[in-house]
Amino acid sequence: MPKYSLFSAFTQFIKPTFLRKMIVSKFGGTSVGTFEAMQRSASIAASDPDRKLIVISATSGTTNDLVALSADDLSSTKREELLGNIEERHMDIIKQCKEREKLEKSFQEQLSELRDHLDFSGRDKKWKDTLYAFGELMSTKIFVEVLKENGVDAQWLDAREVMKTDSTFGNAEPIWDSIQQQAEVHIKRGQAYLTQGFIGSDVFGNTTTLGRGGSDFSASLFAEAVDADTLEIWTDVAGVYTTDPRIVEEAFPIKEISFDEAAELSVFGGKVLHPATLKPAIRGGVNVRVASSSDPDNPGTYIVKETDEKPVIRAISLRKEQTLLTVNSLEMLHQYGFLAHLFKVLAEHKISVDLVSTSEVSVALTLDTAVNAANKVDLTDDVLEELGRFAEVQVEEDLALIALIGNDLQKTSGIGGPLLTSMEDYNVRLVCHGASPNNLCFLVNQDEAEEIVRMLHGKFIKG
Ligand code: ADP
Ligand code: ASP
Ligand code: MG
Repeated sequence: MPKYSLFSAFTQFIKPTFLRKMIVSKFGGTSVGTFEAMQRSASIAASDPDRKLIVISATSGTTNDLVALSADDLSSTKREELLGNIEERHMDIIKQCKEREKLEKSFQEQLSELRDHLDFSGRDKKWKDTLYAFGELMSTKIFVEVLKENGVDAQWLDAREVMKTDSTFGNAEPIWDSIQQQAEVHIKRGQAYLTQGFIGSDVFGNTTTLGRGGSDFSASLFAEAVDADTLEIWTDVAGVYTTDPRIVEEAFPIKEISFDEAAELSVFGGKVLHPATLKPAIRGGVNVRVASSSDPDNPGTYIVKETDEKPVIRAISLRKEQTLLTVNSLEMLHQYGFLAHLFKVLAEHKISVDLVSTSEVSVALTLDTAVNAANKVDLTDDVLEELGRFAEVQVEEDLALIALIGNDLQKTSGIGGPLLTSMEDYNVRLVCHGASPNNLCFLVNQDEAEEIVRMLHGKFIKG
């Protein structure tokens, strides 16, 4: 963070509201996962009065616990264990707050509402979204007090008042016009707010969610809606790295990355940002910064329209739990309409396809079947049966998608050769090159994927 002189600090704090910048700051699960983490995040929020809209996730682990609680075959022992985890995690924080009595009371009320909800019989996708929303509703109730203790008088805002979506439970589509209208009604310039990421509501008032990891997306939608100057994503790593630092020790944070590259990186598995995060920010001309809440002086990564440097390969991303669907139909030889028919069936079942490789009579396509994917695909028996009516279908699981992210990859010569040579010891199931200037991706066996990412990082990423 920049160091302020006394003069600049003074002018910053007395600036009239209309001249103030507006920053939307999102803190992820680990940044609000413990009392200490909440304190660090609250002091970041307090250190710049322009941080007017704070969006947070559930405390880390809570959404996973809630997802586990939604399982059909849950034993009562497991249910109590999961509820116990949630209670312990939140009570640990509450016990260290000044307003512990008030917070304990409201938390216990939420917990008993959660128990009531679990007893409810209609366990459909709508029921699940209401269940998952408890995580963000619980964390914000506590964090609003922690903010107060740190001098930030933020108003608690129910995100569902503003974040209007369609009724695709589990993966709801935001309705932009309604979000903007509601933001004008509920968010006053000059006032500070704390709200929930991930959750929204449909036209009937039902709670919806934006898909796993969706708080980044919420924050970006809020930033666009309030015409923010900057969106800050505060997380547990110091920015967007050249690849997941948990997999490659030598990975390092990228100082500046373009919107296009960062968008591809997140779509292809860079969990640091939800895949849809950058769309609203780009539309709204909002600057994006990704930084670590435990190292706030480190500038992290700025995501900008144009970067000074445009390396051909900037980063590598990895997405596990991918499925390859191969559809063969000899009848389609020299016939038109095969692809159209295939994609019609997939669209009817709301299946989104990632990579596609085609030949005259067969098509191979990849689907994101990862449990925690933002846009998880359910390859149901119904779809397979319908495809089976006109083609032979083969399903291969446990694959991983690796993407090289960079610039002008489709036009640069000399990439394919060294890449394929370096992959000669591995089985490459599918390659997609040429469709996008910002990525080159391929499918490999999941159990070799991390080793391949480490090898490619060593060969192609320059520090
Ligand atoms: P939050 O809870 O703050 O949203 P996430 O766990 O969703 O945090 O995202 C941060 C994690 O993303 C990091 O801990 C890291 O392991 C992972 N990650 C994957 N790819 C990247 C990347 N290219 N740069 C940084 N982090 C990455
Ligand atoms: N709490 C939600 C999740 O774990 C949303 C988020 O963290 O972004 O998926
Ligand atoms: Mg996240």
